[in-house]
Amino acid sequence: MIEARELTKRYGGKTAVDHLSFTVRPGLVTGFLGPNGAGKSTTMRMVLGLDTPCSGSVTVGGRSYGRLPAPLRTVGSLLDAKSVHGGRTVRKHLLGLARSNAIGRRRVDEVLELVGLTEVADQRAKGLSLGMGQRLGIAAALLGDPEVLILDEPVNGLDTEGIRWIRDLLKSQAAQGRTVFLSSHLMSEMELTADHLIVIGRGKLLADTRMREFIETN
Ligand code: ADP
Ligand code: ADP
Repeated sequence: MIEARELTKRYGGKTAVDHLSFTVRPGLVTGFLGPNGAGKSTTMRMVLGLDTPCSGSVTVGGRSYGRLPAPLRTVGSLLDAKSVHGGRTVRKHLLGLARSNAIGRRRVDEVLELVGLTEVADQRAKGLSLGMGQRLGIAAALLGDPEVLILDEPVNGLDTEGIRWIRDLLKSQAAQGRTVFLSSHLMSEMELTADHLIVIGRGKLLADTRMREFIETN
């Protein structure tokens, strides 16, 4: 569960996130919709403890990560797939991440299998296609078997097959009881993926509703 209460972030004179309150529940895929610049990434960074709110609060499973990154075991995130591309092989990248988070080696193989990267595990992470790189980012997010998955624009730049794959994965993760929170600027994508929808514009909450109700009333 993610709970934001009056969450606010300003950069200089500009308010990126403006008194935003919402709850993201387990067992559902919750979409976070808004145009570019609406404040989605800033909000997600505060949830993850990668950015500090100016006022208000946000908790994950009752804990606040205001000044420290949330542990991989609590939250798996795909904020920036580029950060997982190293000169190392796919497997070594995940092994490094596992070691620094006290996660066993066996989990690395499990996750490689889960995201369909077993075949390319010994290739350099840098040489992966965009779609495969995205899978590696998701593998990293799943490594700690986290309660909460946070994905910022996970389908950007992917082809139809890649998009469908991510959609199915997120739905199955939610069906297993995880809290899944993903952002997008595309309503068409949200309609196909999300059970619940939180809409923001200029940092402010515009809607917080079941997807079905949103479609019926808009
Ligand atoms: P979105 O993810 O919805 O595209 P962002 O959260 O990235 O929106 O950005 C919200 C607003 O805050 C934008 O106007 C953006 O330029 C601004 N912003 C985001 N991060 C910073 C930063 N580190 N410094 C200054 N302005 C920022
Ligand atoms: P997105 O559109 O996916 O939110 P951005 O390109 O807006 O990504 O932001 C990428 C990075 O740059 C983020 O770390 C964000 O905080 C930072 N950033 C965004 N806008 C600004 C800005 N106006 N000034 C400084 N940093 C910014």
